[in-house]
Amino acid sequence: MYRLSDGSLIQKRTIDHRIIKAKKQYTDIICERLHISENKIVCERCKLNNNLASGVSRSHIISVDYAQKTGRSELAYDILNLEHLCLKDHRELENLPNHIREQWYEYRKEKIMAENEMPELEEFLKIICYVKKK
Ligand SMILES: [Zn+2]
Repeated sequence: MYRLSDGSLIQKRTIDHRIIKAKKQYTDIICERLHISENKIVCERCKLNNNLASGVSRSHIISVDYAQKTGRSELAYDILNLEHLCLKDHRELENLPNHIREQWYEYRKEKIMAENEMPELEEFLKIICYVKKK
């Protein structure tokens, strides 16, 4: 059992089931918004068109593991905690420390909700003066 932010408990299989639903929903929303079909999905970072079948994955900004460990399991199936990323950019995201990933999630969510705009991670890292590890 894992915990949600409101203190209630949730089963792992419920989380996993909701993740599958959220990922599908996220892709549907992006396709609708960009007026494209699923095989035209590109990496949100490098814009490479290696579609869902051949490499772009729906990556968690705040990892499922970290969300569960910090008692905020609902982040695992929050569609605003997902990004379409190629393998290279997925790895790059995973190399960012958790507190930066948290800030990116909040910043990106705010931009999408309030300004209906997809921010760029590189720009965000510049704003917060984050220097990437080599
Ligand atoms: Zn990429």
